[in-house]
Amino acid sequence: MENSSRRIAVKIVVTTVLLAGVYFFVAEKIRRPIEIDGGYREVMGTLARIVVVAKHDWEGKRCIEAGFEQLKRIDAMMSDYKDDSELSRVNREAFTNPVKISPELFEILQKSVEFSRLSNGAFDITVGPLVDLWHKAGEANVVPDKSILTATKASIGFEKLILDMNERTVRFAVEGMRLDLGGIAKGYAVDKAVEAMRREGAIGGMVCASGDIRCFGKPADKGTWRVGLQNPVAANSPDSNGTIGAEQVLMVLKVNDMAVATSGDYRRFVTIGGKRYSHIIDTNTATGANKLSSDTIFAATALDADALSTAVNVMGAEKGLALVESLDGVDAILITAGPEYQVVKSGGADMYLR
Ligand code: AMP
Ligand code: MG
Repeated sequence: MENSSRRIAVKIVVTTVLLAGVYFFVAEKIRRPIEIDGGYREVMGTLARIVVVAKHDWEGKRCIEAGFEQLKRIDAMMSDYKDDSELSRVNREAFTNPVKISPELFEILQKSVEFSRLSNGAFDITVGPLVDLWHKAGEANVVPDKSILTATKASIGFEKLILDMNERTVRFAVEGMRLDLGGIAKGYAVDKAVEAMRREGAIGGMVCASGDIRCFGKPADKGTWRVGLQNPVAANSPDSNGTIGAEQVLMVLKVNDMAVATSGDYRRFVTIGGKRYSHIIDTNTATGANKLSSDTIFAATALDADALSTAVNVMGAEKGLALVESLDGVDAILITAGPEYQVVKSGGADMYLR
């Protein structure tokens, strides 16, 4: 008698536990994902924003923190503004002796050289001394002398950057060389943020670091991630209130599981004697690139999109588009320079406008 009532009690407990298990399993399966906007935070000298889609509030918040953590980590490593960054150490020491660097920095330097080759030197992270020169020229409001530009060019050139794969070291072949990862590091950081968010359980999300954006999965409403492409001309003209920089969206891009990067001279530039010089340097002329107002690149990773957007900005519509068309899974929307701008699209770009 005692045995049989114990058996019944055990059965009840086991059944209850099983039912509870099934209930939680089904509830978890059909739980509707939620979308959390992590807002903007200052990182990498700009404002970054992370949006996440996850099953639980706590999970989403953890993903957002993990994403921002990666952006900060890459910035601490690759910033040339921070004296204690790994990149700054390379810039200080790599002419004197080969500098052993982390696998991540080595990877980004290798990728940078690949993009330099691909773009015939339009993309070149050794552009640092020219970036500095034009920055100072802007402060002094004086265009640098041709002789100074020529002299500075001597310490520039990706072929003078020596990477030793076996030793994982970097060395500069010329004195005065200085690396500037401003054209590629944000994209790399965005990719790392997406990786970290996925690891923490994100089903979807969007990471934006200024003009570098990557979207994955879908928004919570199962729609499409949307990215506004600014009108670079309107961004510099006064609006009806006389405000310069008033934003005007030229097109809305629909981006799912893709990265998109925009480069242009409408946000960052120096003005000397009333003339605007882009922060993106054409290493041929040693002067600000002036062929495009902006260019937007779609690619599988934010690193690819970032490096290519800087490269195409230097190359201009004709050569830039030829490069884009030669690459699988890459598209572009270019806006030519001048107030009477033209919009030039690659063959597959319409897919992002529908
Ligand atoms: P982005 O906004 O991604 O096009 O990057 C622009 C930044 O890249 C500049 O502010 C510089 O720090 C750096 N840069 C300028 N010119 C070049 C170039 N020709 N190749 C690679 N990086 C560049
Ligand atoms: Mg770039």
